[in-house]
Amino acid sequence: MSRPRRGSATIGPVTSNGGSNEVVVVGAGISGVACARELVAGGVPVRLHDRGRKVGGRMASRRLDGRPVDTGASYFTVGDDDFAAVVDDWRERGLATPWTDTFHVLAPGAEPEAKSGPVRWGAPGGLRSLVEDLARDLDVHHGELDRAPDDGAALVLAMPDPQAVRLLGDDHPDVRRRLDRPWEPVLALAARWPERAWSFDGAFVHDDPVLEWVADDGRRRGDGAPVLVAHSTPAFAEPHLADPQAAAGPMTEALCALLDLPAPTSTHLHRWSLAKPAGEREDPFLLVESDGRAVGVCGDAWGPTSKVETAWLSGRALGRALVDRLA
Ligand SMILES: Cc1cc2nc3c(=O)[nH]c(=O)nc-3n(C[C@H](O)[C@H](O)[C@H](O)COP(=O)(O)OP(=O)(O)OC[C@H]3O[C@@H](n4cnc5c(N)ncnc54)[C@H](O)[C@@H]3O)c2cc1C
Repeated sequence: MSRPRRGSATIGPVTSNGGSNEVVVVGAGISGVACARELVAGGVPVRLHDRGRKVGGRMASRRLDGRPVDTGASYFTVGDDDFAAVVDDWRERGLATPWTDTFHVLAPGAEPEAKSGPVRWGAPGGLRSLVEDLARDLDVHHGELDRAPDDGAALVLAMPDPQAVRLLGDDHPDVRRRLDRPWEPVLALAARWPERAWSFDGAFVHDDPVLEWVADDGRRRGDGAPVLVAHSTPAFAEPHLADPQAAAGPMTEALCALLDLPAPTSTHLHRWSLAKPAGEREDPFLLVESDGRAVGVCGDAWGPTSKVETAWLSGRALGRALVDRLA
């Protein structure tokens, strides 16, 4: 196991006491943070690890041209009452804002079509800021782990299946066997123009081999910056995973052709090798007794639809189940 370091996102009081019922949570995306919060609220000590320099995982925001841009999740929706209470609190404090209930469908050579649906939410400070807020009282150990820690009363892996399998190595074959959901990649291209020359908030792209989604980052985050973030199709991303920067040109060309735009003034490309799970799995989390230890797995692959709310619900439910066992 590589040595974890305490990083810049270490926030608030130390919650770990190294006690015998300590739960080790690996993954400080929204599911791991929701799980850790629930454990702490239930009186169970927690040690939270993440390999990133910051918490947030796929709710990723990166500073480009002096402002944060959401390069991972585009927005979130709210259905569950308890998640709604969390979102209301964010809204009251100005951390989250309703973005739009209307997206467009774009297809090469066809008229844009508007479609309304649930309210989609954004965050003025970028979606990562919401996970940072949830993690504010948690002590996060930053640094890549190459094996899951083998101390603590329980282990939680809050991450995509393939990352959890990698961490387990040869251990806990009964857990590994259950982590069989396939995952798809996405490339995200952020591009800036001198001024806005489009008139949608977000658009699903149909019948295009390169692009499947485009979001107006300025409108979803409320500062009006003329910045778009386009997501590739998994089929386009797959052959570019080894050299993702080579995809920036073709993605920019596809975006400019789709929206009839001149070349952008700046672009940034981000690779998500494990962006979203394919297939289905209804269970809200996994929790098994394995080699004398409780081992849990949570995240957006546990539940009906892969999304931010599902990940929060999964992490919180696993946290509750562990409190029932350990508190
Ligand atoms: C391109 C893209 C677009 C999306 N769009 C939307 C959207 O519009 N709406 C929506 O609701 N959802 C969307 N999602 C999905 C949403 O981002 C996820 O459902 C949610 O963020 C998952 O949270 P999680 O905690 O389950 O996993 P993650 O956020 O992936 O967290 C896993 C964490 O584990 C850490 N980790 C992994 N391996 C190790 C290791 N070996 N050692 C230490 N730490 C490790 C990672 O650093 C990461 O922080 C999108 C995702 C992507 C990638």
